[in-house]
Amino acid sequence: MEQKKDIRSLTKEDLREFFLSEGMEAYRGNQVYEWLWRKSVHSFDDMTNLSKELRQKLSDNFAINHIEVDLMQRSVDGTIKNAVRLHDGLVVESVLIPTAKRSTACVSSQVGCSLDCKFCATARLKRMRNLNPDEIYDQVVALDKESRIYYGRPLSNIVFMGMGEPLMNYKNVVSAIGKITSDEGLGISPKRITVSTSGVPKMIRNLADEGLKVKLAVSLHSAIDSIRTKIMPFNAKLNLSDLRESLQYWYSKTRSRITYEYVVWKGINDKESDIQALVDYCKFAPAKVNLIQYNPIDDGSFVQAGSEVVQNYVRTLENNRIIVTVRQSRGQDIDAACGQLANKSNLC
Ligand code: SF4
Repeated sequence: MEQKKDIRSLTKEDLREFFLSEGMEAYRGNQVYEWLWRKSVHSFDDMTNLSKELRQKLSDNFAINHIEVDLMQRSVDGTIKNAVRLHDGLVVESVLIPTAKRSTACVSSQVGCSLDCKFCATARLKRMRNLNPDEIYDQVVALDKESRIYYGRPLSNIVFMGMGEPLMNYKNVVSAIGKITSDEGLGISPKRITVSTSGVPKMIRNLADEGLKVKLAVSLHSAIDSIRTKIMPFNAKLNLSDLRESLQYWYSKTRSRITYEYVVWKGINDKESDIQALVDYCKFAPAKVNLIQYNPIDDGSFVQAGSEVVQNYVRTLENNRIIVTVRQSRGQDIDAACGQLANKSNLC
């Protein structure tokens, strides 16, 4: 059976043209666009200002390939994890992280991942496919609804830190951000969105040129090439010096502080030389370092360093006027903590 085209792959102009070509008024296209994005309906029957015939015409010609939240789990600390089924049956996960004042959505951008970080079980899944802009958008809508229901407030922040490397699905991630920030979509300020990458220099430059006003976070984990290549093998090609050049470019274009995500592992990056390398690496522009608590994956070769080492990192970074936060895990009991999504250890 021929598959119907996903109506959300059409622009507003495409929709207007569709109606014109059917001998109808173009403004119907605006109405449908509003239902699809701002009102986020998943059925043509819900488009109540369209006639029955018109809704039938749409459903004869198009599909709305929406996600389904298959399973929602709530942690004792309030974190919510959604297992999200895509229209082709594949599953990704997204997480709502509530704090006293904020509700942060952590969304996935790929099924599996294109990269091969050794501390990450997603890397073993390999990339199955990129998510479409509407699949990213739908994750945000679902988490926004849950935030309103359980915490009485809309989402305050969005991080692209779930499954996958967002900059390896560049076009769709940028398109999703466009929809999320547009007044015709969710109207969320780009300043509240963080794109978290493992460091793809060419794409960081492109993102800087895009002028989106989003924030950038980089999963660094080591500022020494030989160590970073061991734990993130793609670093052999996309090395730290290329990465820093792209970050310098990012800062020169956006004047936006760069966040570095960093886990301290026993025997891997717990020496004074590792700390000094980090300071030297990130002090060229305003920076913030998030020291993230590690949730081990099954083989046990990566073990969180002790708190005295982490405190040493904190002291040295602060002495060098670099902002540093120590991130505790959230949602560990439902495998929603950083590093636990889909039994994986994504820290990008
Ligand atoms: S840490 Fe991120 S970039 Fe690395 S393999 Fe895992 S999901 Fe991909």
